[in-house]
Amino acid sequence: MKFDRLETSNHIGGIPGVGDGPELEVVDPSTGRTVWTYRADTPEAVRAAVDAAAEAFPAWASATPAERSTVLHRLAAELETVAEDLAQAETAQAGKPIRLSRGFDVPGSIDNVWFFAGAARNLEGKAAGEYSAEHTSMIRREPIGVVGSVAPWNYPLQMAMWKILPAVAAGNTIVLKPAENTPLTTLMLAHACERAGVPAGVVNVVNGTGPVVGEALVTSPKIGMTSFTGSTAVGRHIAGLAAANGTRTHLELGGKAPFVVFDDADLDAAVRGAVAGALINTGQDCTAATRAYVHRDLFDDFVSGVAELMRSVRLGAPADPATDMGPLVSFRQRDRVAAMVDRAVSAGARAVTGGGAPGGELAAGAYYEPTLIVGADQRSEIVQEEVFGPVLAVLPFDTDDEAFRLADDVPFGLAASAWTRDVYRAQRAARSLSAGTVWINDHIPIISEMPHGGMKASGYGKDMSTYSFDEYTRIKHVMSDITGLAAKPWHSVVHQNA
Ligand code: NAP
Ligand code: MG
Repeated sequence: MKFDRLETSNHIGGIPGVGDGPELEVVDPSTGRTVWTYRADTPEAVRAAVDAAAEAFPAWASATPAERSTVLHRLAAELETVAEDLAQAETAQAGKPIRLSRGFDVPGSIDNVWFFAGAARNLEGKAAGEYSAEHTSMIRREPIGVVGSVAPWNYPLQMAMWKILPAVAAGNTIVLKPAENTPLTTLMLAHACERAGVPAGVVNVVNGTGPVVGEALVTSPKIGMTSFTGSTAVGRHIAGLAAANGTRTHLELGGKAPFVVFDDADLDAAVRGAVAGALINTGQDCTAATRAYVHRDLFDDFVSGVAELMRSVRLGAPADPATDMGPLVSFRQRDRVAAMVDRAVSAGARAVTGGGAPGGELAAGAYYEPTLIVGADQRSEIVQEEVFGPVLAVLPFDTDDEAFRLADDVPFGLAASAWTRDVYRAQRAARSLSAGTVWINDHIPIISEMPHGGMKASGYGKDMSTYSFDEYTRIKHVMSDITGLAAKPWHSVVHQNA
């Protein structure tokens, strides 16, 4: 189904519907034109969605892993048939270059479905056994119930998948709210779930703004868990709301990934890696390379290499396969990025390349030039805060210890990379850097089998991989007496004559 033929804006209990709330718009940020309008949901609709998910839970939770796996295999196959429509919709609503949507967002999302279709049959735990001589212990890994999830706009389909798949593979049901500006591919996914025979109520989608629809969802006393991806500020706010109900949370928040280039690094690889790692998705990637720490001996060559490559990046229409980098997701986000760069420059830093919005035809869209900053202070905003735009700051260092210290000297801890040809140094970097992912001689790649998630202000809990099942399941210990004795040996601690 193509997005402009979508006539419904929510999916509750297997029924596609429309909201009763205020009208909202999906804007193509490359032109500023509205590509789709819809009516937001109300808190009543959120309650109906949670009820539908709760009603669907018992049957879905007691389906066999093989049954759940079969449904997810059908979903993956169904999504393969609409992959191009999904790519077009993702590009229209988020301004992503079509090469990125076709080559990364959509195939990565579908691979996640294939992965969780298999993983659904591989929920693991400790072996049953006699840990006490008188008992057999065993572990039951059970779904939690209804998951209430809130997703961001940077990778709308992938983020929806990361929330939905481990939850439903493990036997939970879910209500998901996408970001208000990027609902299209999540709605298309809900339709695909229906065609694939996902039982009604297992996957529900509601739409609207965070403070209204998002809060109605995460404060529902009927949800067993909230999983959230987005900003650190909203994540902490949601964790506070969840605490009032004692609801479990999983938070995937912002990042400020360091990119550490040692003096023995392959300079060409580091330069190419920095440009790709900083500019992917116009820098709106929580793992994007944002701070390069470069050994002083390589500093000037690194800066000139990155600047030259950044200048060759082609900005253009997202739908054009020749476009390397599209606009920011919105004019608001573009203005936020521009203001942060302007403040950095006022504070004494220098933009070696970029540092502004392009003119000409691109001025109609939310574009910003690839920007390389030098001379920023480690304590400054541009080095400490998440920019979420195509901006890389480069700082020099002299010793390994200094590099590790500077790399960790921010609140965030989502991802990091180290560039070196020395295996010992690579292992020291892997150990030293406080981040949920550490790349060696690369930056950005992810894979369904491996976990993604943060440390420190980047949140906690894992997406993807079988590690995600630890978030979406609860562990029950079942301990059975195997002696058959009425007077059990341990009774003596309570009752002398036992
Ligand atoms: P955000 O405000 O944290 O939004 C993320 C999601 O939370 C959206 O669906 C949003 O709804 C919802 N939300 C907002 N306030 C809420 C509330 N009070 N209760 C429940 N849900 C609420 O993030 P953003 O404005 O989209 O992006 C800003 C920053 O988030 C970025 O600069 C970046 O730092 C971070 N971010 C991180 C990631 C990541 O993968 N870690 C991804 C995207 C963004 P609305 O649609 O109404 O905003
Ligand atoms: Mg927001």
